[in-house]
Order: sequence, then C-alpha cells, then structure tokens
Amino acid sequence: MSFIQENLKTILETIPKNVKLVAVSKFHPAKDVIEAMKGGQILFGENRVQEAAAKFDEIRREGFFPELHIIGSLQRNKVKEAVRIASMIQSVDRRELLDEIEKQCSKIDKKMQVLFEIHTGEESKSGFTSIEALEQVMEGFRAGQYEHIEIKGFMTMAPFTEDTALVRKSFSFLRELRQEFSVKYPEYDFSELSMGMSGDYRIAIEEGSTMVRIGTAIFGERNYSR
Ligand SMILES: *Cc1c(COP(=O)(O)O)cnc(C)c1O
Repeated sequence: MSFIQENLKTILETIPKNVKLVAVSKFHPAKDVIEAMKGGQILFGENRVQEAAAKFDEIRREGFFPELHIIGSLQRNKVKEAVRIASMIQSVDRRELLDEIEKQCSKIDKKMQVLFEIHTGEESKSGFTSIEALEQVMEGFRAGQYEHIEIKGFMTMAPFTEDTALVRKSFSFLRELRQEFSVKYPEYDFSELSMGMSGDYRIAIEEGSTMVRIGTAIFGERNYSR
C-alpha cells in the first residue's frame, strides 16, 4: 500500500461512517489523486479552479471519474469553469456568486449543489460575515431566482490557532446557525456541515461535522513553489 493509501485508511478508520471525507488535493498532481482513487476515495476538493480543471480533465482522460467540490474563494469569472467540473461549490460567500452560478448552470442545464461559507474564524478572510446578507440570499431562493442551485448546508474554516476552545466555538457556531436556518427556512436542506481540516477534524466531528476536508494528512505537505 502506498503512503497516500495508508494515510487514507488511517483517516477512514478514525472518522465515523456517516461523515464524508473530502480529500483535498490542491498542489498535488493528478497521479496522487489516482493513487487515492485506487485506495477507494471518490470525492476530492480543490480550491483553485484553473488548477483543478487541468488536473481533473487529465484524471478523466486516464479513465478515472472522481467527484469534485470547489472549496476555495471563487472569482466570478471562474464560475463557468467551476460549474463545468464540480458537483458542489462549498465556498459560496456572496450573492453575486449565486447569480453567476445560476446563470452558468442554466446555460448548460446543470443543477449545482452549494454550501454557504460562513466566516467564523478571525484569520480566514472569506465567508459571509453577516447573517442579514445570508437572509437576503434566502429571500432570493424563496422568490425562485435560483432554480439551478440546490442548497445543502454550511461550510467554515476555524481560526488557525492552538486554542482549541476557539476552534470549537467556530464549529458550534456553524451547528447553531444550521439549527436556526432549519427553523426559519424549513423548505430547504441545510443538513451538511463542512468543517474540519487535517489539524482540527476531530474537534469538528465532536461538534457535528458531516463532511471533513482533509489534505495534508492524506497527501503530505504541499509544495507551494511547484
Ligand atoms: C487546503 C484546504 C483544506 C485542507 O487543509 P489541510 O490542513 O491540508 O487538511 C481544507 N479546506 C480548505 C478550504 C482548504 O483551502
């Protein structure tokens, strides 16, 4: 068994069966993704659309068919490509992005799953910072503006700190937000809570994560100079 497959096995043994694993392959080559697929992994996450498009097109040409989630902050001019390659965009953090996703999806008659990224940690810059902005978006859904978009829940990145109480607080905030929105907007599905990375996924699971996004603990350190 390869290094990647060993890591994958270890992680799958430590997370509960009902928690989905998104293997974050950013900065790692197509062959690493294929290695993970040979170890049984199907779902991957990437945060840069151009890198992901080139890599995942290559993987498909090799005859492998992974599922891809976009997890990084997304510029409007990358949405067309994102919609082509991904089944879910986890990093929806503003209304304009939804408008563009709707536009691009309607062109190709594709339904896109989304998570609303919520800013809960001081260090991360992305994510909705106001609940009012999110409520406006929900009004747009109720008005029928987003027929090609399917809400699945929320995503967050905890602050990058040794202070586990702070990390935990960020995750419990997301869980409470889901509770609140499930009551306010009962016709929508907020079941997914995408939270937890290599350094904090155990805490995230304790706080109710349904989806962990793990890169380093599967593929090893990223080489940003490549
Ligand atoms: C890179 C990244 C991850 C994975 O981080 P690791 O610490 O390598 O597990 C998870 N979520 C997002 C949004 C990322 O950009």
